[in-house]
Amino acid sequence: MAQNPYFKIFQQLPKDPVERIPEAMRLLIQSKEFRFDIHTHIFNRDYIPNKFFEIRIPYLVNTDFLEYVDDIFTELDDVSEGEDLLNYALFIEFATKHSMENIAQYLINNSPRNTIFVVIALDLFQSIEGKVKKDYIQQLEDTAKIRDKYPDLILPFFEVNPTNPDIDQIIEKAFLEYGFFGIKVYPSLGYMPSHPRLMQLYELCEEWNVPIIIHSATHNLHTTRNFIPLEYYAIDERGRPAFRTQKKMFLFRNQYVNFFNRPQNWEVVLKSFPRLRVNFSHLGGDDDWDGRPRTDRNWSFRIFDFMERYDNVFADTAYTFHLDTFLELLTTNLFRNKLLGERILFGTDFYMIMEKGKYKNLRSRFALNIGSEVMEAISVKNPIRFLGLESLTGMKL
Ligand SMILES: [Zn+2]
Repeated sequence: MAQNPYFKIFQQLPKDPVERIPEAMRLLIQSKEFRFDIHTHIFNRDYIPNKFFEIRIPYLVNTDFLEYVDDIFTELDDVSEGEDLLNYALFIEFATKHSMENIAQYLINNSPRNTIFVVIALDLFQSIEGKVKKDYIQQLEDTAKIRDKYPDLILPFFEVNPTNPDIDQIIEKAFLEYGFFGIKVYPSLGYMPSHPRLMQLYELCEEWNVPIIIHSATHNLHTTRNFIPLEYYAIDERGRPAFRTQKKMFLFRNQYVNFFNRPQNWEVVLKSFPRLRVNFSHLGGDDDWDGRPRTDRNWSFRIFDFMERYDNVFADTAYTFHLDTFLELLTTNLFRNKLLGERILFGTDFYMIMEKGKYKNLRSRFALNIGSEVMEAISVKNPIRFLGLESLTGMKL
């Protein structure tokens, strides 16, 4: 482990996660009057390359057109006809017209009191075409400033994109200078989750109790690069991790997510680091839950399989929580199935979820239908275990 290139950074971090959160957050958790949203974003247009919106939005329109549509719809009373388009327009407006500070304030003001938000920074410029006003290190610095303003409520995570040539500096600054708490891995931005750099990082994350949020959905974002040289580990015929290289060409949109984001890519990681704290975000995503007959090919089954085999595997409700089919599964099975009851985390994916409707409405509809007992499990008890903060609560988890 001492030969690990990131060892010197981790040596300076306390191994107890309680010592890595601000005093104000410790006090809030000790007061027992808290809940978590384990998955949110507050970065605005300044950190987003132009192509981001074109990839996310399923209409052949550009952002100017959507702003125009937004202006028209706000004049109308009944918007049900064009509801999807309106949601996209509002989503774009939110990202383009507000500062990161305002987005954070909106999130805090429109959520239940004393919600602690895991805020995730993404290295979009590294993977998506288009200019940005502010680079990734600036995004990390600005996120930390907002955390300093709300030290009891904001717990920052950052994406580690191993294709960024400055990745070593980013990791050092994020942990030591800006006090980030955990990491995010977003494979469809153009890298395998078992990239050698990441494997080195996981070795230390396991030992230091640094939690990892994994993007695990078939929809959404991907890199705009077409030809990608890959380096990664995979399980070989004898069941052991083996190093592989591959040059891969991508011609269609769904190729990226299907290739990079599938849970199977994590087998070699979990086999190598079985105590790693991981959260498979979105639990497979909308496509996995959209009402089509469920088969053993569903990503959610792969994730449950990991939960059965590895003690620190969690999954969050981010984005997917807007679907009725998903709500039904949780309502009927959360307490019938012990694993689900202990490993599901509440997350919203604010403000990305605005593509599906108003944040407040979607959130309260879910909370109302699922009931307070389940909400207590997924937004209080389970996040405390995922984050390794049990010693603060004195509650039976
Ligand atoms: Zn997200």
